[in-house]
Amino acid sequence: MQNTIEISSDATLLLGLEGVAVVRVERDDDGHRVVHMITDDETARACPACGVFATRVKERVLTSPRDLCAGGETISLLWHKRRWVCREERCRRGSFTEQVPQVGARMRTTARLRRACGRSVVDGGRTISQAGRDHRLSWPVAMREMRAYATEVLPAEPLPTSAIGIDEIRRGAPRWEQDAATGKYRLIADRWHVGFTDLCGEQGLLGQVEGRVATSVTAWLNARPAAWRNAVSYVAIDMCAVFRSAIRAALPHAIIVVDHFHLVQLANAKLAELRRRLTWKMRGRRGRKGDPEYDHRRLLRANAEELTAEQRAVLERDVGRIGTAGRHLLAGWHAKEKLRHLLALARTNPARSRIAHRLHAFFAWCADHAYLPELVTLAQSIAAWWAEIEAFIRTGITNAKSEGTNRVIKLEARCAYGFRNTSNQRLRSRCATTRSSRNRAIPA
Ligand SMILES: [Zn+2]
Repeated sequence: MQNTIEISSDATLLLGLEGVAVVRVERDDDGHRVVHMITDDETARACPACGVFATRVKERVLTSPRDLCAGGETISLLWHKRRWVCREERCRRGSFTEQVPQVGARMRTTARLRRACGRSVVDGGRTISQAGRDHRLSWPVAMREMRAYATEVLPAEPLPTSAIGIDEIRRGAPRWEQDAATGKYRLIADRWHVGFTDLCGEQGLLGQVEGRVATSVTAWLNARPAAWRNAVSYVAIDMCAVFRSAIRAALPHAIIVVDHFHLVQLANAKLAELRRRLTWKMRGRRGRKGDPEYDHRRLLRANAEELTAEQRAVLERDVGRIGTAGRHLLAGWHAKEKLRHLLALARTNPARSRIAHRLHAFFAWCADHAYLPELVTLAQSIAAWWAEIEAFIRTGITNAKSEGTNRVIKLEARCAYGFRNTSNQRLRSRCATTRSSRNRAIPA
């Protein structure tokens, strides 16, 4: 009987919902478009219990599954479907209604609506709440669809890559508690994630583990297949001895690299430490406006080649004027610049002798000013990490991508107003850090 109903092939094509055919489209009293449709899939009358095709209609039912918008506004689907009687003798199922892959039994939404909701979080960077609002789905459903879509698009195992970066990121703010008896504060929660980033491909964040101890890093690396571990030739880290020992244990063949960013940061920190100590020693108070070393603290931190001739002359004149302390401060500044001069050899394919020459110049300078403890500890750090620093000068590999990954992770957490569930946070972080490469791969 339903076969005699005329269907609109144009409207069916426009709706594009597999398994159903549009009969007509009309506007309701509020002006909303209502799409009347019928089942257009022979297999819909196969009994879900026994698989036998039913032949007797029990009744007609009307359902209205929610679907995607069309032309920028919501549409209502009205599905005129049939309830069939299963007359197979041994089948215990009395009757059933029609279902198609896009709208399963008892589903009140289409599969493509739910998938679009998950996709808008994973690929579109929406929050769960906003994706739910956009697709008229509840928060738990949006959450479930995000997980389903993420599982679908994220590879279960990272692809082989020759260089990875390992970096830590704080998860949320540290929490302190005041001890009622002593009145002192103590740290009660300070949670970290360690991230593994693909440095040469487009995979973004490969994985994350909780905590920042050697065991959690080795556990993640050891959980990867041997072929993947063997493919990793370089590992970039910041100067963290915990990571270094973990990598040596799990990837003994890999070359560890420490990049110039953290080294120059360390040198600047030592210079600032020296400046503050000298100020205290000289003036018995902390630095303030009017003290030459305080006024020029930004010039001291700047790279020498970025200073104008005038700025450099002012720096040397004003700081030199404060006597011995000024000379000591300038010695610290030169130590930082000598270290930068050494690091500038990276990516220039330098001869071994040039590296040795500049390294010696740095060490000799620090040794000549060994009465400055800040320069001694700086030189000690450089010596302790020399193998990794030399690897950076030779390869030019940096951990910049890890830092970029961390920025995206923080942004994602802020947009979500923080995460309560850590495994959820790791999943969302992976979605966010692989989003741009995934979107590039999706045809427009
Ligand atoms: Zn049956």
